[in-house]
Amino acid sequence: MPSDCLFCKLYAEGDHVRKADGFAAIKDINPRADTHLLVIPERHVETFRDVGEFPADEVQRMLAFVAETAREAGLDDYRVMVNVGPGGGQTVFHLHWHVLGGRMTGMPG
Ligand code: 5GP
Ligand code: ZN
Repeated sequence: MPSDCLFCKLYAEGDHVRKADGFAAIKDINPRADTHLLVIPERHVETFRDVGEFPADEVQRMLAFVAETAREAGLDDYRVMVNVGPGGGQTVFHLHWHVLGGRMTGMPG
């Protein structure tokens, strides 16, 4: 684990909404929706571009964790988003999934 990675740190010692099986969900510090959660895998992969570094079964479990996080947050309709690279809005270089529900601000579309 890169010692200077914010999300490696938050995975290890953050205030988690839920954590299981190598994945954690936290509240975004700067929410852009009524519900704005981040799903962080324990495995440090810098960007979605490198998603192939995950074993296939881990990708499956990661997506299931995203869906379960939304369900447990009481969301039925919602948005799942990944920013890829600085040009795509990525600011933390440890792959993570945004889960956004309710009223959203500053979102595309
Ligand atoms: P990105 O811009 O890389 O797609 O998403 C990074 C997200 O992490 C941003 O939405 C930002 O608000 C959130 N964030 C940055 N630092 C912290 C932090 O220390 N704690 C939490 N909970 N979220 C953070
Ligand atoms: Zn990391």
